[in-house]
Amino acid sequence: MMLLKNKTIAIVGGGPGGLTLARLLELKGAHVKVYERDLNKDARVQGSPLDMHKESGWTALQKAAVLKAFEKNISIGADKKIIADKNAVIQFSDHEIKSGENIANQIARPEIDRGRLRKILLESLQAETVVWNSHFIAMEAQKEGWLLHFKNAPAVYADLVVAADGANSKIRPYITDIKAFYSGIVMLEINIHDAEKSAPNIYKLLNGGKIMAFGDSKCLLGGQKGSKDLGFYASFKTDESWLNNNELDYFDHAQLLEWFKTVYSGWSDTWYEIFEKATAPFIPRPIYCMPLNQTWQAMPNVTMIGDAAHVMPPFAGEGANMAMLDALELSEYLTSDQYHSLQEAISSYELSMRKRAMAAAQQSLQNGARMHAEDALSTMLNTFNK
Ligand SMILES: Cc1cc2nc3c(=O)[nH]c(=O)nc-3n(C[C@H](O)[C@H](O)[C@H](O)COP(=O)(O)OP(=O)(O)OC[C@H]3O[C@@H](n4cnc5c(N)ncnc54)[C@H](O)[C@@H]3O)c2cc1C
Repeated sequence: MMLLKNKTIAIVGGGPGGLTLARLLELKGAHVKVYERDLNKDARVQGSPLDMHKESGWTALQKAAVLKAFEKNISIGADKKIIADKNAVIQFSDHEIKSGENIANQIARPEIDRGRLRKILLESLQAETVVWNSHFIAMEAQKEGWLLHFKNAPAVYADLVVAADGANSKIRPYITDIKAFYSGIVMLEINIHDAEKSAPNIYKLLNGGKIMAFGDSKCLLGGQKGSKDLGFYASFKTDESWLNNNELDYFDHAQLLEWFKTVYSGWSDTWYEIFEKATAPFIPRPIYCMPLNQTWQAMPNVTMIGDAAHVMPPFAGEGANMAMLDALELSEYLTSDQYHSLQEAISSYELSMRKRAMAAAQQSLQNGARMHAEDALSTMLNTFNK
């Protein structure tokens, strides 16, 4: 703990990365605050569920001593999957092998709802650790550290700042001006509330698990979210300019259905229910990736973890897992007696993090390319039938 003795640490962002880091540092006795822009702990955490990988997310949870709570909150069966063609004909299913007495099979990559994961991590922290409604806007050098400025909140000083504020990090530019590149893929997010009642056919098709449908270099990816809600992504290749030029009204179901019929022409009308019964608005998510060979000079008083450091496409399910492993590694480097200065510890952490993130990003880009290729269906069937 020598390096952190009498130091104040500001983690900006209370996502999986930031909260895991706060917990791990608190366990080591460090003085930590998390500044999160959400108004309070009840802000709804959006997005698809996360599967925790044994060697990364799961290990971080274990070191954070929250495994028991995590295991209680796993979405049992949410990792069951089917692969369909564009006609909605099922070509692969693992529902049989992941049911009944085979239930232990699904513990390999347990799924958890993002909101539940946040709750578990929050409950593990000291009462005043997270400072809600703290939207970071800028910081300036002061003494050995930084004075952080927020929208609607007083400025605070910290000796060490950790950027955990996600893909559009406002702190990253203080470290490097390297920017993410567009991957060539947009994922149009579609949520269906209470799908058991509102979209019964699609709900039955998913049967509590995930679906991946491939055809004509496009995908439809869906899964159970929380209780009875479903989340879908229409994932397709397009120019970056699509976002500004498409003239779609994301609140207009009828228009989005017409868009689907045109862009996914020849796909079965079974899929139409997703568009008709969606909870508006649809959310376009252009997918970005940090350059694989990025590098920068380590600083003595600021570093980054998670998407802020290495946003990558979601096609290998690595983003949150990497964010949590970053948290684990950084907490260990900062509290190790091996380093003589914070800059040395940060530099060693960043070297290791960049190497690991590069491999994960490469895998994510490759998976993205395979899933959006002309022969995606047969490639994916080969992979899962092995
Ligand atoms: C469609 C999709 C599917 C995905 N599926 C998976 C998956 O299955 N498995 C997986 O591991 N990963 C998945 N990911 C990736 C994963 O969501 C991210 O990698 C992960 O959330 C990154 O965690 P983080 O803590 O770095 O950042 P985030 O989760 O982005 O958290 C950042 C936090 O910082 C806060 N914040 C942002 N700006 C500020 C500011 N200026 N001031 C204060 N607070 C701020 C935000 O409110 C947020 O709480 C997926 C991503 C997408 C887009």
